[in-house]
Amino acid sequence: MFDMHLHTNASHDSKAVPGEIIRMASGIGLSGIAFTDHFDNYKSTEENNALPILNSYRNFLDSREEAARPKLRLLFGMEAGGGIRNPDNLKRLAGRLPFDVIIGSVHEIYYRGENVSLYDFDFRTLPPETLALFVETYYRDLYATMNTCDVDVCAHIDLIDRYIVGKHGIDYDRGAFRECVEAILELIIAKNIALEVNTSSCAAYGFTMPGPGILRAYKAMGGELLTVGSDAHVPGNTGGSFGECLEMIKSCGFRRLFYYSARKPFAYGI
Ligand SMILES: [Zn+2]
Ligand SMILES: [Zn+2]
Repeated sequence: MFDMHLHTNASHDSKAVPGEIIRMASGIGLSGIAFTDHFDNYKSTEENNALPILNSYRNFLDSREEAARPKLRLLFGMEAGGGIRNPDNLKRLAGRLPFDVIIGSVHEIYYRGENVSLYDFDFRTLPPETLALFVETYYRDLYATMNTCDVDVCAHIDLIDRYIVGKHGIDYDRGAFRECVEAILELIIAKNIALEVNTSSCAAYGFTMPGPGILRAYKAMGGELLTVGSDAHVPGNTGGSFGECLEMIKSCGFRRLFYYSARKPFAYGI
């Protein structure tokens, strides 16, 4: 399998040493991995944002030899968050380096005049109708990101539930947002953007992002491009929960997964 979503010490929220990620990945028998450090495009100046990706590229170049020994395919990518705020920044950076994959995501939404981080926000303070507005805004931002940004993969489509349901234990009517989710699925299928199955919530909260419900809907709508990513921020989480995730993916009727090289999808059987 390929782990198509990993953070190294070039990301602000990771101290992962690339060599340790490589040893972990080859130790558990992965075929390949992608470094996808954060390009947080919420701010306005390009150089501020691009620096982590330039550091990530250096990590990639420095690690190629080490990855070649266990015949691990090492890929270079980035996780572009907030692309819609400054789409031109993203475009410029995408043209500067030889990316294998660009994954798009939303980690912050615009709420009451400022960017609010999903990671930091305490959803327990919101009354139900405001919570609904918040969730809707998240999906609208993700839709816009997929619609306006040149990305290959839609990362952790229902990330907001990691925080609302997982972290804060709030039980809300997720079904009410099915249309928002399906609109994104329809869009990414039309644009040949892959759907990522992200395993970073498995150990703590017991669910993949997305889970079987959304995966089956994606399949029924004709979606085929599927990647898997651990979103590990420490080397020990590389390939985390891939075994159970694979079984779940198969149970939804998928027989292939994809990795990206030079921003093109390549299938492998499961
Ligand atoms: Zn993310
Ligand atoms: Zn990530």
